[in-house]
Amino acid sequence: MTTPAKRAYSANTRLLHADRLGGVEHGAIHKPLHVSAAFNYPTARDLVEVFQGNQAGHVYARQGNPTVNALEAKVTLLEDAKGTATFATGMAAITAVFLALLRAGDHLVCTRFLFGNTNSLMQTLQALGVAVTFVDATEAANVRAAITPATRMVFVETIANPVTQVADLDGIGRVCKDAGLLYVVDGTLTTPLLVKGRDVGAGLVVHSLSKSIGGHGNALGGAVVDTGLFDWTTYANILPPYKKGPADKWGLLQVRKKGLRDMGGTLRAEDAHRLAVGAETLALRLGRVCDNALALAQWLEQQPQVARVHYPGLASHAQHERAARLFDGGFGLLMSFELREGIDTLAFLDALQLVIVSSHLADNRTLAIPVAQTIYYEMGPERRAEMGIADELIRLSVGIEDVADLIDDFSQALANIT
Ligand SMILES: *Cc1c(COP(=O)(O)O)cnc(C)c1O
Repeated sequence: MTTPAKRAYSANTRLLHADRLGGVEHGAIHKPLHVSAAFNYPTARDLVEVFQGNQAGHVYARQGNPTVNALEAKVTLLEDAKGTATFATGMAAITAVFLALLRAGDHLVCTRFLFGNTNSLMQTLQALGVAVTFVDATEAANVRAAITPATRMVFVETIANPVTQVADLDGIGRVCKDAGLLYVVDGTLTTPLLVKGRDVGAGLVVHSLSKSIGGHGNALGGAVVDTGLFDWTTYANILPPYKKGPADKWGLLQVRKKGLRDMGGTLRAEDAHRLAVGAETLALRLGRVCDNALALAQWLEQQPQVARVHYPGLASHAQHERAARLFDGGFGLLMSFELREGIDTLAFLDALQLVIVSSHLADNRTLAIPVAQTIYYEMGPERRAEMGIADELIRLSVGIEDVADLIDDFSQALANIT
């Protein structure tokens, strides 16, 4: 049997061979699907040791199973991190971080430019007694100014949905380090290939695996990654049972026990398998969507019917220089644009023949959605204005089609309605 050397290869190559490194049953080169709910050991003493965390193993699949663990190993490898816990969805992962690690009376500093459902989740946290301050996270000074003695955590997104603001990621990392705060970054829209959490000082990174990492729009999942940078011995909210063993594992252990064992936000083995197969082509797909998105953004910006294009790869973007400095190899798949006043946004979307009008991000197919009327509808006009979301804003998730075909479709739709 050949075994690839553990360190010599790139992350992409190692990801493709990760299952073999873990030792796959029967010589299979894919991790098989384990659908067993429960696990049995040679002796009752072994079961006790596994339950008490003294011996590796599984007890009940709500807390994980071997197929899910194989995916976790791949995400850890992509982030060059210490460990990963996966969840049923990105929202389950984010919820697990907040509910496992925050308590009533704590204060959270949160970016104002936020994924809609995370924004809604903040109201739940506030109702439970966690104070939340929303700040413009494109300047680290705003985060610093919001910190109080009760602040425990800072939460930001790498590229914000849907207007593509790029947070002052490394500046905020330095602020959190100085203040001893846990820095949590939602890296969904950059993936670990464009920017790794550890490189900007994040203690935890969350990902919606439903997006680029899975990549095919056929499975949901989420991940919480511990970069190893945060010193958990300084964190006030670690409960006594999780202060066993090495301190670098405490935080993720508590997130796993609360989020999976107690709250049950468990990723199914079938979905873990699909996400892991999807992740094998992440580097290929991401290169392609970044190229497509930049070409499309540059083309849209030239069209007389288009008033504004938001894409970090454009020189006109307010954080373009930061994005070019922080992101390795591209600017992602998310962009948004506004048509000139008087053009009917919904009629334009109906005129598209190839691009699919749909929510979701990071399918292989290009998707478009009018955001103010749909995914950002519930938050109301005031909060939308704070986030820079115009009523005419169209969000695009750029896919891997041939870019000439995409430009052709937008071109015919613009001609059709004007
Ligand atoms: C989609 C998304 C989420 C939520 O992930 P789900 O897997 O859909 O629950 C969280 N954050 C960002 C930035 C997202 O794009």
